[in-house]
Amino acid sequence: MQKIYTDENVVVLHSAKNILALNRIESFVKNEHTIPNGARHGIQNMFLELWIINDQDFAKASSIIEEQLTKAAPIESWVCSKCAEENDGSFDFCWKCQTET
Ligand SMILES: [Zn+2]
Repeated sequence: MQKIYTDENVVVLHSAKNILALNRIESFVKNEHTIPNGARHGIQNMFLELWIINDQDFAKASSIIEEQLTKAAPIESWVCSKCAEENDGSFDFCWKCQTET
């Protein structure tokens, strides 16, 4: 068994697990049930781990995860209708004049 991926976001981790399952690579999530314990020390320090069962899948699994999770398209930036300022796609409001998207 080998650790293939670490993330604090359980949703991201499970989507990685699903992607591996689609490629017939067996994996399991470690630390998933220790969150209440970790939360006492600060949830931000609680990283979940994805492990693969068969070590020989490692190279394939890591390239699949890298391809699927790191090439996710960034959110497109948008231009404010009021002041024409360009805003990052993750902002719901214009950083300059606070006009909504
Ligand atoms: Zn604006």
